[in-house]
Amino acid sequence: MIITIDGPSGTGKSTVAKGVAKKLGFTFFDTGAMYRSLAWLVLKEKIDPQNQSQVEELVSRFQFEIRSSAHGERHYFVCGTDVTHDIRTQAISMAASQIAIYPLIREEMVKIQRRFGHSVDAVFEGRDMGTVVFPDADLKIFLTAKAEVRAQRRYRELSHKFPDHALSFEAVLKEIQERDETDSTRSISPLKKAANALVIDTSDLTAQQVIDKIVRIKPKRRYPKMKLSYKWVYWLARLFFKCFFRLKVYGLEHFRPGAAVVAANHTSFFDPPVLSISCPEEVHFLARGSLFEAPLLGRLIQGLNAHPVSRGVSDAAIFRDMIALLQQGKKLLLFPEGKRSATGELLPLERGLAFLVHKAECCVIPAYIQGAYQAWPRGRKFPKLFGKITVVFGSAIEWENGPDKKAMQARITDLTQEAIRNLKEWLESGARGSPP
Ligand code: C5P
Repeated sequence: MIITIDGPSGTGKSTVAKGVAKKLGFTFFDTGAMYRSLAWLVLKEKIDPQNQSQVEELVSRFQFEIRSSAHGERHYFVCGTDVTHDIRTQAISMAASQIAIYPLIREEMVKIQRRFGHSVDAVFEGRDMGTVVFPDADLKIFLTAKAEVRAQRRYRELSHKFPDHALSFEAVLKEIQERDETDSTRSISPLKKAANALVIDTSDLTAQQVIDKIVRIKPKRRYPKMKLSYKWVYWLARLFFKCFFRLKVYGLEHFRPGAAVVAANHTSFFDPPVLSISCPEEVHFLARGSLFEAPLLGRLIQGLNAHPVSRGVSDAAIFRDMIALLQQGKKLLLFPEGKRSATGELLPLERGLAFLVHKAECCVIPAYIQGAYQAWPRGRKFPKLFGKITVVFGSAIEWENGPDKKAMQARITDLTQEAIRNLKEWLESGARGSPP
């Protein structure tokens, strides 16, 4: 889940974002610190922040890292140097605001921010989090406050952090006003409230009051509501697999709204229903027409949005149906190995998956199913009860379109194969932390 907190400087964004993240057990991400860290490198290299080409050239040498101290404090490192303290000066504030107007710089920063946002529940604070970086965020907040109040807060913060610096309130107010002007008038990603953001004026509120207010607002539901008929079968099937197969699911944090192909290994008739009920939202899959005739399994898969594939129907027609589902923003289960593995081992993936996600322009969520083979292997008429089945979802595989369609599809196939293998390894080596 992603919560975005945007607004001009001095509105209390960092304190509030940190507090909200702590209360909800989320990760906190201060994107201003990234622009400041790059500005630090620009000034260290004695580059004029107004010199766009030199600043853009420097990006390739910008190695940014966040490390947590033993006390849980975040430290920012640029090319190995801890800059956490040094990036808070006024000179850096102004330089950060200057370099943040360059499109290439923003592009690079946004890429890093989205990469961080993919794998965790997080609170992101900045200027363009709700508008540009995470337009689908679960909750968007926009903080405001009168310029004088903001300058007063900054003045107090700076006097505390840098007691030796000669500082006047007027200079801080001027700096805030200048930065507001640069941040709100730049042509790319200007400081702007997202249309669906909630505005909180913090002028007369303490940070704690703002934190409480945000935590009290229930973030909007992350997953689309299930149809009633689906929900019934979903929960009954979950109960069945929990009781008889001690079903355990990891990696639900990797689900995001919108279309995706959930691609898993395939060893058993159990795979489609087990994978469906492990997903936190309604999914769809295609199944052989004959499976719908099986007494219990047929009913089960019918209730779980299985779409029958009749004998003799062309591959092109099947692909058309799948693309149509994805283009409606649905999630589709797929077993890209093409057939059930006879030994339970992973098989090489077929190219159909890559063709499909390329055509539908969606991502792949890799998944690994463990234990379904032992519960119901190929060649057995009925399953064995009382086994253990585990499902692991990995982080979404995004791909970038390139001119060479074939090479790109091969890359999607390789990435998916590798991701499923990594999930297997992660599970077998003790399932520590979040799945990769
Ligand atoms: O939030 P903070 O004051 O640390 O940000 C420093 C500068 O970085 C801002 O004035 C703004 O120009 C830039 N910034 C940005 N987009 C963000 C975060 C910060 O342009 N998401």
